Amino acid sequence: MRTFTASKQNIMSKRYTITTALPYTNGPIHIGHLAGVYVPADIYARYLRLTGNDVVLIGGSDEHGVPITIKAKNEGVTPQDIVDKYHAIIKKSFEDFGISFDNYSRTSASIHHKTASEFFKTLNEKGEFIEETTEQLYDAEANQFLADRFVTGTCPKCGNEEAYGDQCEKCGTSLNATDLINPKSTLTGNTPTLKETKHWFLPLNKHEDFLKKWILEGHKKDWKPNVYGQVKSWIDDGLRPRAVTRDLDWGIPVPAEGGEGKVLYVWFDAPIGYISSTIEWAEREGKDWEPYWKDENTKLIHFIGKDNIVFHCIIFPSMLKAEGSYILPENVPANEFLNLEGNKLSTSKNWAVWLPEYLEEFPDQQDVLRYVLTANAPETKDNDFTWKDFQARNNNELVAIFGNFINRVVVLTNKYYDGVVPEPNDFTDVDLETLAAVKAYPNVIASSIERYRFREAGQELMNLARLGNKYLADAEPWKVIKEDEARTKTIMYVALQIASALATLSEPFLPFTSKKLKSILKVSSSAVENSWNDISEKEVLLPANHQIGKAELLFSKIEDKTIQEQLDKLEASKKANEAANKTIEPQKDVITFEDFTKLDIRVGTILEAEKMPKTKKLLVLKVDTGIDTRTIVSGIAESFSPEEVVGKKVTVLVNLAPRKLRGVESQGMILMTETPEGKLVFVNPDDNDSVKPGLQIS
Ligand SMILES: [Zn+2]
Repeated sequence: MRTFTASKQNIMSKRYTITTALPYTNGPIHIGHLAGVYVPADIYARYLRLTGNDVVLIGGSDEHGVPITIKAKNEGVTPQDIVDKYHAIIKKSFEDFGISFDNYSRTSASIHHKTASEFFKTLNEKGEFIEETTEQLYDAEANQFLADRFVTGTCPKCGNEEAYGDQCEKCGTSLNATDLINPKSTLTGNTPTLKETKHWFLPLNKHEDFLKKWILEGHKKDWKPNVYGQVKSWIDDGLRPRAVTRDLDWGIPVPAEGGEGKVLYVWFDAPIGYISSTIEWAEREGKDWEPYWKDENTKLIHFIGKDNIVFHCIIFPSMLKAEGSYILPENVPANEFLNLEGNKLSTSKNWAVWLPEYLEEFPDQQDVLRYVLTANAPETKDNDFTWKDFQARNNNELVAIFGNFINRVVVLTNKYYDGVVPEPNDFTDVDLETLAAVKAYPNVIASSIERYRFREAGQELMNLARLGNKYLADAEPWKVIKEDEARTKTIMYVALQIASALATLSEPFLPFTSKKLKSILKVSSSAVENSWNDISEKEVLLPANHQIGKAELLFSKIEDKTIQEQLDKLEASKKANEAANKTIEPQKDVITFEDFTKLDIRVGTILEAEKMPKTKKLLVLKVDTGIDTRTIVSGIAESFSPEEVVGKKVTVLVNLAPRKLRGVESQGMILMTETPEGKLVFVNPDDNDSVKPGLQIS
């Protein structure tokens, strides 16, 4: 019955337009991006292609908006320099990790400017916008209106003095620049004035009924609960008109009368990037792009992270609906966030695994990361990436199950039959059950993928490898060969069929491994290469007498040392952050000059030093104070070796009451300070770069 269903699916080939969130081009991308959007989208697209559908997987860089212009100003370069740099880095990361885009474009491309302009013009001509003149903050010296990140001030909700013109990051409130108390221009530091300016607004309230019907009634069952819930709460709050233009010079000029000096709001133009990237692809391939966006039978799917839900489920669909000729998304399977070792991924805190760095440190191990990110995908809740889990999944699953099975099959086939697939003899019940189980996998995995359950799908693939591994371990061909050559041939034949199924079914998840395995089995682009549905339908996947190649390792063990290096790197990031954030202690209570003169502070020289036995921190010092030579016990052993300190000039508080430490009387105290990195240093500020004003002497 399963075979019948599979072939039926095959006939019903469909057209899919699959889009992936456009990464913002002011930095490289990290594992969070890959896990949340690009790996699931790639698995989905690859699977649909393998099952004979007409698929276009669309991506591109989001290159407009205020943060890019601010980064450019800070670095003394142009916004174009910034986006050129990061577009190249991001695009290469996607290629390196096998994200199989049919087209990867950028929003600074002329095709995009043209497409977005026309889209705006159509809506404007149809009367779908409201034009409104309002007073906005203006910096006269910079001759610029101050929107979004160009202005900071005090948050009216929580009093945070560093809130931005679009959002307070402390309390999360979404703000208008004019809401800020004591606003300040980030360009000049000046207090802005108010100046009238005209903007175009998309009246989302006008689309409320349509959105309710389409999503709240139409997609209650098939959209992910996290997506549906967020959309519902937005709609329940009531939708308001949203400005789709900005007073800026970086972006797409507003193509309308009175639009001089204004550009389209980045969140208006970015999703249109999906359309312009599709047009760019179609022109290159000699295809018609319109069915991919306008044919009711096309399935449009947006892969995004949860921070983009409102733009893809409310604003963009309202734009598409207002335009009138476009289809709406069939689904928006947004993921939650991935954390790293228990903390939020953060670019500014360098708490991330950057893709270019990963590839330098784990060359050719893209599939390992793809696999682990899929196994841990934040599909229903925020999830954690840990290096220990990465190591365990590699060593215990990819190496010990998948890799081990393939290696045994290929090595034994070469050893017993010079790499030629043997003719099977009579099948046992176990053989037949195993072969039947293999045939069920394409549908099992497909069913998970089609419901956007990629974690489950990845685990089912591993279950197929597990089936192979167990079959071989139970059948023990390496023992059977000694007494029953005919039986051994059958065992190896069955095992080779499983290996062949793995070569095809692993492609969406582990594309590099799949390619390598196909090359080992010598099935690439030949009559014996199987499609997804062939695994269920064909009687024989790898025929007798087919010659396979030599064994090559698909995965290799990752040692503790390698994992420790990654953990150390993160620890260093954490320390650097703590140092940057270390607050200067507030001043103590005022003392009188009399109080001060009670302290007798002198210069001394350390003459001898030795470690206090059985302690980690203490050194016993002999110090020449000029008055006498005395013993001082000092807790500096973790920062200095005894040899290092002998001969050093130090500052000594000589009239501190003596006290016994571990039985040794200490007659005074050496004045020290502690650097933000936690190292003790002598009070001798000019000598040491890490001694900064404000550090306490104690
Ligand atoms: Zn606030």
